[in-house]
Amino acid sequence: MKRTIGFGSSCVHGPEEKRTTKPHQLPIYATSSFEFESIEEGMEVFTGQRPGHLYSRFGNPTIDAVAEKIARLESHGLGFEAFGYLTSSGMSAISTLILGLLKPGDKILSQGNLYGGTTDLFRKVLEPLNIGLVLARLSDSEAITHLLAQDRTIKLLYFETPANPTLECLDMAALCQIGQQAGCHVVADNTFATPYLQQPLGFGADFVVHSTTKYLNGHGNSTAGAIVGKDQALMKEAIFPRLKLLGTNCNAWDAWLIHNGLKTLEVRMERHCRNAQQVAEWLESHPKVARVNYPGLKSHSSHELAKKQMRDFGGMLSFELKGGLEAGKEFMNRIEFCSLAPTMGDVDTLILHPASMSHLNVPREIRLENGITDGLVRLSVGIENVEDIIGDLEWALGS
Ligand SMILES: *Cc1c(COP(=O)(O)O)cnc(C)c1O
Repeated sequence: MKRTIGFGSSCVHGPEEKRTTKPHQLPIYATSSFEFESIEEGMEVFTGQRPGHLYSRFGNPTIDAVAEKIARLESHGLGFEAFGYLTSSGMSAISTLILGLLKPGDKILSQGNLYGGTTDLFRKVLEPLNIGLVLARLSDSEAITHLLAQDRTIKLLYFETPANPTLECLDMAALCQIGQQAGCHVVADNTFATPYLQQPLGFGADFVVHSTTKYLNGHGNSTAGAIVGKDQALMKEAIFPRLKLLGTNCNAWDAWLIHNGLKTLEVRMERHCRNAQQVAEWLESHPKVARVNYPGLKSHSSHELAKKQMRDFGGMLSFELKGGLEAGKEFMNRIEFCSLAPTMGDVDTLILHPASMSHLNVPREIRLENGITDGLVRLSVGIENVEDIIGDLEWALGS
């Protein structure tokens, strides 16, 4: 029976979406839940007997499509399938994954030059939950093999390559082998490189995490993260329940922005790499620059390793000004074309002076221990015309 309804009800209800020809672009499913035709359908979806969506915290067609796309890129050409989840940030990807894999009493083995937020997560959130952190030079295979043999409570090996701020690389094949022989979960943060430059799963890593906020989105207009894993059962049984219960899910709008950004990942990365190489070479020959850290330079300690395991050398570099802290501040205040912003991986060139910006509150000794000297400047080289980037640096250096 079709009853007529009141004006207010007509405001609230209908009309039904007219299923038309297929949309050419991924639609944004801005809905918190999904309706069922019948109790039976609802029960089957709830129990997993029938595919379908229930509630967007558990997944949604927009979010799922983008998670699958990132998983496909991380496993592209490797001959196996990978599975992905999208999260609300890079940090929530890392916390969700680790809370899914470890229990109190377990430990993480990692490096001292991790992304700052990750070290803080391990120290300030996980350590009080009795998930310990052991830091070591992960480039020292012998030392870490020994460490893992000595301490059987280390259950997870976590690494970043190339790492901030010196762009030092780690031998992924060697690390994954050592980690796996010790029975550890091996996790790589692939934010700096993206799957265009390197695929950690192909070197033996079990999981990859991303801050999609950076290169994968690439346009600086969304905050999100991703978890990619090879073991579907572990992803479903250990990781998904944490994502769902901690509520670390992504939302459809941010997922859609990442999807849009991913379309140009290859062309953006090609240009980021080409520009960064030129900027690095230019800086290296400048009299006011003491040192340039870029894996694409023959002078960089990881040049050979990067050539072996990366397709190209990336868009990130750092350099050391001869004049220290004052020179760093003066240089930053003269910059016009590049933006002073504490992020990276955007299409525009971003510049950061850690000593006066991101690491202002970090004690100097600790900063120095991690290679963050007073005159160090970090550059996330964008995809603009390279002459404009170099022109700005030249002006700011006051040559
Ligand atoms: C930015 C970043 C993160 C954290 O990601 P958010 O999206 O800011 O939460 C983690 N790892 C690396 C290497 C990063 O650069």
